[in-house]
Amino acid sequence: MTIVGIDLGTTNSLISIWGDEGPELIPNALGKTLTPSVVGVNDEGEILIGEAAKERLITHADQTIADFKRTMGSDRVVELGSYKFRPEELSAFVLRALKADAEQHLGQPVTDAIISVPAYFNDIQRKATIDAGKLAGLTVESLINEPTAAALAYGLNEVEDSQFLIFDLGGGTFDVSILDKYDNVMEVRATAGDNYLGGNDFRDAIAEMLISNHELDRANISHRAMNRLHRLAETIKEQLSSNGEARYAATIDEVEIEGSLNRDEFEELTSPLRRRLRIPMERAINDAILTPEKIENVILVGGASRMPMIRRMVGRLFHKLPLSHLNPDELIALGAAVQTGLKSRNAALEDVVMTDVCPYTLGTSAVVDDNFQNLVIVPIIERNSVVPISQSQSFYTIRNKQTQIHLDIYQGENMRPADNILLGDLNIDVPPAPAGDEGIDVRFTYDINGALEVEVTSLSTKKQVRKIFKNQANLSEEDLQQRFKALSDIKLHPRDQAENAALLARAERIYAESLRHQRDYVRTLILDFEQFISDPKNRDVASIRDAFSEALEELEGSLFDSE
Ligand code: AMP
Repeated sequence: MTIVGIDLGTTNSLISIWGDEGPELIPNALGKTLTPSVVGVNDEGEILIGEAAKERLITHADQTIADFKRTMGSDRVVELGSYKFRPEELSAFVLRALKADAEQHLGQPVTDAIISVPAYFNDIQRKATIDAGKLAGLTVESLINEPTAAALAYGLNEVEDSQFLIFDLGGGTFDVSILDKYDNVMEVRATAGDNYLGGNDFRDAIAEMLISNHELDRANISHRAMNRLHRLAETIKEQLSSNGEARYAATIDEVEIEGSLNRDEFEELTSPLRRRLRIPMERAINDAILTPEKIENVILVGGASRMPMIRRMVGRLFHKLPLSHLNPDELIALGAAVQTGLKSRNAALEDVVMTDVCPYTLGTSAVVDDNFQNLVIVPIIERNSVVPISQSQSFYTIRNKQTQIHLDIYQGENMRPADNILLGDLNIDVPPAPAGDEGIDVRFTYDINGALEVEVTSLSTKKQVRKIFKNQANLSEEDLQQRFKALSDIKLHPRDQAENAALLARAERIYAESLRHQRDYVRTLILDFEQFISDPKNRDVASIRDAFSEALEELEGSLFDSE
C-alpha cells in the first residue's frame, strides 16, 4: 500500500511519496508541484481547483475562494455559486485534486495519506483536517506537524547533530519548533506558534496602505476590487523580495492608482507583524529551557520566509545566518513523504527515530480555592511534553453526599475554562460521603497521533470510566457520510482540461486588468483559442497552447511595467 504525504497549505498544496530514491514530489495536471489552494465554481456548476481557480479570484470573485485553511475548525459556510461549503469541504476539493494527480502519476488508487498541519493547530482544527481527508475519500493515517515535517526533510541529510530552530512562516500561519538532532534521533523539544499570522498579513498591510494612500472607499470596496488589490499587493510584496523598490499602477473600482513602495517603507509598515513573530519564538526557547545562543542552526521554512526582512530579523536574533538552501515551498511535503517512509518502515529509514511534543496544555476544570468559588483549569499534561505521555492527578468531592464527579476536558494555556477549548466531558459515580472523603484519580494519556485518552478511577470503589478524545469528527459520522455523498455528486472540472482552463482563466484575468487596445488583443487571443480547442479535428493543441501562453507571458510583463 502506498501512503502519500500531503502539505495542505494556506496558499499552495503539494503531494509526495517515499520513492526509490527518497522523498518525491508529484506533479499536478499542469506539470507543477505547487497546486494553489483555491477552489471555484464555473457557470456549468463544475468545481475548479488550483491554478484556474486562482486566476478567477479577480474575474469571478463571488465564485472563487482562497485562504480557507484559516477557517478550518470553524462553522463558517461560504457560498460558491449555488453551493454552500464548509472549510473542510473546500479543503476536500483540494485533496481530491491532489489524490487524482497522485493516482495518475502512480497508476494506482491512492487511499491513505499523512497530512501536515501547523504545529499550533488546535484539536478542532486537526479534526477538521481529518474530516477533509475523509470527505476526499482518503484515510488519514496520521497528521504531522509542519515544522516536524520540515525538520525531517532537512534533518536527514542537511543538518549536523545540533539543536536547531525551525522558523516556518507560511501564507496564513506561523510555527516555531526547536529540535535536537543526535545520531539518527530527532527530538522536538518545544513548539509554539500563531495560527493567525502569515505572509498574507504582510500582503494585507500593503493592501491597507494602497487603500489609504489612494483614498479608496474602504467601506464600499467591491469583493472583486479587494481581490484585485490583494493580487497587486502580493506582486509588490514578492517584487520587494528581489528588488529594493516595487512600482505599481492599476485601476481599482474606477480609481487609477500609481506609485511605488520601497523596502524600508514596507519594513516600517510591517513592524507590528515582526514584533508578533517574536512572541512564539521566545515562548519556544523558554519552554525548551534554552537561550538563543544555544540554538546552533536556524532553518527558514514557508514561502513568506523569503522576505529579506525575515532573514535579517532571524539573523540578528540568533547571531547566525539562517539556512534556507532547500526550497521552502517544498520542505513540508518532502518531510511528510519521509514520514510515510517511516510509517511503512522503509529500510532506508530503519534507524531514524522521531519524537514529537504535545503543543498545548491539556487539563480539566476544578475548584481549587477553599471557598469553592472559582472554577479554574488544572493542567495535567503541560504543553511541550514529549509524546507519548501519561500523567495523573487526584481530585476530591466538594459537597456532602456528592454521588457524581463531572469532568470537563480542556486544551489551552488560559486560567479560566471559558478561555480554552473544550474537548469534551465525562462523569464518574462515587459513593455518597462527606465532602472531600471520596476521590478520583484522573489519568491523561496523549499519543503521537494527537489522541487523548482520559481514564478516571474512583479511589474507593476502583470503578473506572474511560473516554478517548481521538480526532473525533467535528461533523458527526452521519453528517460526514451525507456530505461525502453530496460532494461525490458534484462534478469537478475534467483534469485533462486543466491546462486549458488555467490558461483561459489567466487570459480572462489579464483582459479584466487591461484597457482599450490591449483588451481587444486579449479578447482575440481568447476567442481564437476557444475556437481552436472546440474543434475535435484540431490535434496539435499543445503547440497552440504554448503560443497562447507565450503571448500572455509577454503581455503580463509589459502590463505591470508600462502602466
Ligand atoms: P506557503 O504557505 O509556505 O506556500 O507560503 C506562502 C506565502 O509565502 C504567501 O504569503 C506568499 O505570498 C509568500 N511568498 C512566496 N514567495 C515569496 C517571495 N518571493 N517574497 C515574499 N513572500 C513570498
